Amino acid sequence: MQVSEIQRRLTELGANAAHRDRVLRHWVQAIPLSQGRRALEHYLPLAVREALPALMAELQGLARLRSQHPGEDGSARLLVDLADGQMVESVLLLREGLCVSSQLGCAVGCRFCMTGRDGLLRQLSSGEIVAQVALARTLRPVKKVVFMGMGEPAHNLDNVLEAIALLGTVGNIGHKNLVFSTVGDPRAFERLMAVGGGAVKPALALSLHTSKPALREQLLPRAPRLTPAELVEAGERYARASGYPVQYQWTLLDGINDGEDELDGIVALLKGKYGVLNMIPYNSVPELPYVRPSWDKAREIARRLHQRGVLTKLRDSAGQDVDGGCGQLRARAEQGRRR
Ligand code: SF4
Repeated sequence: MQVSEIQRRLTELGANAAHRDRVLRHWVQAIPLSQGRRALEHYLPLAVREALPALMAELQGLARLRSQHPGEDGSARLLVDLADGQMVESVLLLREGLCVSSQLGCAVGCRFCMTGRDGLLRQLSSGEIVAQVALARTLRPVKKVVFMGMGEPAHNLDNVLEAIALLGTVGNIGHKNLVFSTVGDPRAFERLMAVGGGAVKPALALSLHTSKPALREQLLPRAPRLTPAELVEAGERYARASGYPVQYQWTLLDGINDGEDELDGIVALLKGKYGVLNMIPYNSVPELPYVRPSWDKAREIARRLHQRGVLTKLRDSAGQDVDGGCGQLRARAEQGRRR
């Protein structure tokens, strides 16, 4: 179900914009209907009040917790059931963050990612995206949402932007804490640049992974054919327009994109840019041939980049798409179902 469809249904019941926001706030912020019942009874039209318990149950049914898999660092992967029996993954991150999925499967087919192996299965509706946040909030507070789970948000642009608009308003999430992540799609840049004053303008994360055009084509075979230099140029335009630094994502793959030549390439691309480089050592998965570099090696790379003037953060992956582990839970659960 799309957010716009929920709003339409409420309007048909006699709700105005303020009524709709009040109802949606209960859902997205996971506030039980029992909390503020008096205010709701006083405030909402009778038809809306009567429909509310069934509507809330329907919205909560858009994303239900199937299983929770805590990591050692305090993060937790969530396997989430959708209403049609499909499954997606979300990840509770440190510092009240949440990584959500935007598609079931993904058409970009990054070589190091489990989600990309089966291609795109279907789009998630804006309601299913928001429902992952509502579900996570029943477990922990959420103050930041990154669109780095399963899927390429730029390939589901209308639904992702509709979800962002709701999360940045009644969802009570600061606009710069909504992070739209993409491999780099000219249509997405255009749409994001066109978001006007007053509307919710998210921050941007760009998956760079290498400074070499040919290697990028190899690693991200169905990403739009932008060179790393073109990607950074587009990122820089958005950073200046939005006022938020761009997060450049770099999955460190041992022996593939961690050499001296890449360090020189990164400095040439990013020095002086309004952005930060997030380096995430790859999480090896048995099904894929890539290897995680040692933490010492990764730390040394980050230190040297810092020294050369590139703001670099080394992160241990908790479940962003770039760690390659995304999609693993779902793949295993699907295998189990087929047995
Ligand atoms: Fe898609 Fe992201 Fe996986 Fe690439 S890393 S295939 S963009 S989900």
